[in-house]
Amino acid sequence: MDALLEELGDVDLPRPALVALIRRELSALRRSRNIPDGSSIAEQVRSVAERLAGSRIQPVINATGVVVHTNLGRSPIDAAGLRAVQEIGARYNNLEYDLVSGGRGVRASYVEHNLAVLCGAQSATIVNNNAAALVLVLSHFCDEERSEVVISRGELIQIGGGFRIPDILESSGAKLREIGTTNKTVLDDYARAVTRQTALILKVHRSNFFMQGFVEQPEIGALATLAKKKRVPCVEDLGSGAVVDTAREFGLEHEPTPAEQIKAGVDLVCFSGDKLLGGPQAGIIAGKKRTIDSLKKHPFFRALRCDKLILAALQETVDVYLRGRDSAAELPLHRMLRMDLEELNRRAGAIIDQLEGLPLTPAIASAQARVGGGALPRQELESVCVDVQATGFPAAELAQRLRRATPPVVGTVVRNRVRLDLRTVFPEQDTGLVSAIRDAVT
Ligand SMILES: *Cc1c(COP(=O)(O)O)cnc(C)c1O
Repeated sequence: MDALLEELGDVDLPRPALVALIRRELSALRRSRNIPDGSSIAEQVRSVAERLAGSRIQPVINATGVVVHTNLGRSPIDAAGLRAVQEIGARYNNLEYDLVSGGRGVRASYVEHNLAVLCGAQSATIVNNNAAALVLVLSHFCDEERSEVVISRGELIQIGGGFRIPDILESSGAKLREIGTTNKTVLDDYARAVTRQTALILKVHRSNFFMQGFVEQPEIGALATLAKKKRVPCVEDLGSGAVVDTAREFGLEHEPTPAEQIKAGVDLVCFSGDKLLGGPQAGIIAGKKRTIDSLKKHPFFRALRCDKLILAALQETVDVYLRGRDSAAELPLHRMLRMDLEELNRRAGAIIDQLEGLPLTPAIASAQARVGGGALPRQELESVCVDVQATGFPAAELAQRLRRATPPVVGTVVRNRVRLDLRTVFPEQDTGLVSAIRDAVT
């Protein structure tokens, strides 16, 4: 043990963590009976220890071209949001304190007010993430008497990381009332499915895939009108939650906004804070004041609420939008979506110049970046990449070396080259990108 501790002294782990890891590995080796010699034990333990050290959350360069990448932390948070986290986290604050009366105040009242304005809704609230928002909404509307959730078969989707809409529905005590077919659901399917057992009609935005061809679904306005007539709530899970017009602002396809859906008559919408909104992880629910008020009284609400750091960051993100177009243009996400090709080409050229003399073949390539984060799945974003091929070893190995470089760089392997898409690399990271490449090939 002592010899191993000495040997692994350079691995960046707190000592008790390293000791526990060595114990665990040694006892696993003993159990396996196939005991290697001392130096290969050390090697084996080192590789496990380095893997653990590398799994510490740390900055990485996202060269995948996926703008909202769930595995890479989704949306980067804007500078104002981060300053707020720093200021509010480091000291005391008025989280639940009313500075006028000097007594207990209401948590999140400011950001909730402004979110409601942003969503064109009477009221809004915030929970831990969009999955939590769904759980809360379903638990609120479903009870013994009314337990059925009417949902189209075309919307029983899996979002990623094993998160399936039907599972979440059932775990909230809801019974699925599936209607229509995978590709077609019409208004009459909804009309016929609503009974006295219906708790709500749920629409789930098909955010991470698209269907083309013989497909049909009712207009959201018509569905909302039907729900009103039948006196059942109509809830829409928007997933990514773009609050600006993605067609007008970024020249992308149009993504339905919370305000549009609420205007069309939907009672409640929910969406993520860290997808197209460009804020911290959160689940935002907006809609009728009466419903939002009762959601906030549900016992789950207390378990699902956000902490001061999230509220501090989200408050800034929301205000950035309310301050107008120029202000929202400062959001990192918006800057990436707008980045022009000329600028990307110029950066690619400069990067390639700096790679001269290294044992690799670089090339500029054009490619298609993606919005990601379960939004606009068929939308392609013209982008510019630096493709690199190392002399003497395969692309998969180069990709791994890049992931283990300082700073780590995540790219994709395309035809025996590692593709580094510059759209998702912050311009100030170009120097880091070059030094990671240098690290990886020398
Ligand atoms: C991403 C997504 C969710 C889950 O949101 P989280 O904020 O990750 O919990 C739920 N529904 C849809 C349609 C989504 O796209």
